[in-house]
Amino acid sequence: MSTHPIVPFLDLLTPHRQLEEAFVAVFKRALATAGFIGGPMVDGFEREFADFCGTCHAVGVASGTDALRFALIAAGVQPGDVVVTVPNTFIATAEAISQAGATPAFVDVDERTFTMDPERLRSYLERDCSRDPSTRKTTTRRTGAIVRAVVPVHLFGQMADMDAIGEIAAEHDLIVVEDACQAHGAEYFSKAQSRWRRAGTIGAAAAFSFYPGKNLGACGEAGAITTDDDRIDACCRMLRDHGQSRKYVHEMEGYNGRLDAIQAGILRVKLERLAAWNAQRQTCAAVYADLLQDCPGVTLPYVPDWSRPVYHLFVVRVAGRDAVQQSLTAAGVGTGIHYPIPLHLTTAYVRLGHGPGAFPVAERAAGEVLSLPMFPHLSPGSQRYVAEQLAHSVAAVPVRA
Ligand SMILES: *Cc1c(COP(=O)(O)O)cnc(C)c1O
Repeated sequence: MSTHPIVPFLDLLTPHRQLEEAFVAVFKRALATAGFIGGPMVDGFEREFADFCGTCHAVGVASGTDALRFALIAAGVQPGDVVVTVPNTFIATAEAISQAGATPAFVDVDERTFTMDPERLRSYLERDCSRDPSTRKTTTRRTGAIVRAVVPVHLFGQMADMDAIGEIAAEHDLIVVEDACQAHGAEYFSKAQSRWRRAGTIGAAAAFSFYPGKNLGACGEAGAITTDDDRIDACCRMLRDHGQSRKYVHEMEGYNGRLDAIQAGILRVKLERLAAWNAQRQTCAAVYADLLQDCPGVTLPYVPDWSRPVYHLFVVRVAGRDAVQQSLTAAGVGTGIHYPIPLHLTTAYVRLGHGPGAFPVAERAAGEVLSLPMFPHLSPGSQRYVAEQLAHSVAAVPVRA
C-alpha cells in the first residue's frame, strides 16, 4: 500500500485560500454600494478581459452557456438554421445552438488533437449540403435548412485549427463562433496572418465560461462574449438584459443573463493571476510529458506546432481506460473523463438520429480518454506519483486481442 497523500483531480481550495482577503474586500465593496448587478466592477472586468484577449469588446454574462447562446443569436443565427459543431464537447455547446433556435449538426474530430477536423467539416458541407447559386447560401440536402454557422471548440485548452476552419467557413458563407470556454489565453499561430492569435479573437464572436473549475473561474456562475464587432457587442448587451437598450425600452425579447458585480470583482482579482497560472499549468504539462514519454500504452496530448495550449485539462489516451481509472482511484489519484458519451449518442440528442459509428473518431476517444490531475498548484512530487501509478495501472490491465 502506498502512503502518498491523495492527489485530487482539481484543487480549488488553495488558490481561494491565498486570495481570500481580496475576495472579502470585493464583497465589502459590493455591500457598501449595494450595487449587485452591473456597475463599475462589471465594466472594469469587461475592459480588462477584452484587453487580456485582445478584442475591442467583452460582455459579461451569467454563464458560458449564455455567452454561447447570445453570441450565436447576435452573430446572426436564426430559428430553423443549422449550426455545425463537434460531438466530443460538453453538452452546453449543442444546447446553446438549440436554444438559439437552430439544429446542431456534428462533424468528427481529428484523431490526435480531438478538435474539429477541417476535412470532416469540408466533406459535410460538400456531401450533405448544397450551394444555392442565387442566394449563395449553403443548405442541407435533407431538410433544406440554411447552414449558418460553425462552432469550433477549443478543447482541453487547445485551439482548433482556425486557419483551415476559417477558410472553409468563408467559402460557404458560415459565421464562426468560437467555443473558448476551456481556452482562456490559449494561442494559435495563424499562417495566413503569420502571427500568434489568442482564443476569442478569431471568430465573429467567442464564448468564455468562468465556471469555478475553468482556467479563469468565478466563485459561482459567470461567462463572457468577446468580439471586435460593435453590432454583436450591442446585441449581446441587450440579450443579457431582457432586450433592453435603456430601462424599459425593449428592442427585442431577451434573457436574464447578466453578470453580477461580486463575480466580476472576484474575476478581476483572478484575472491578474491568469497568465501566471496558465504558465504553471504549462510547466505541469511539460513535467507530465517528461515523466510519461516512454510509458508504454499511454498516448500523451498532441500539440501541433501552431498551438500553445493552456491545459485546462491534461488528457491521455489509454486502452482499458475504465480499469485504469479504477486502479488510480484506489491509489488515491483523482481523474476525470471528458467526455464519456459523445453528444450524438447521448439521450438528449437521440432525436438527431445518429447511431453508433456515425462519428468513429469521437466514439473511440470517448472510450480511451483519461484526464489526469491538472491545476496550477500541482506539485512535481504529486505528478511523479500520478505518473508511477498510471504506468503501474496501465501495465496491470490485460490487453484485449
Ligand atoms: C464549461 C463549458 C461550457 C459551458 O459553460 P457554463 O459556464 O458551464 O455554462 C461550454 N462549452 C464548453 C466546451 C465548456 O467546457
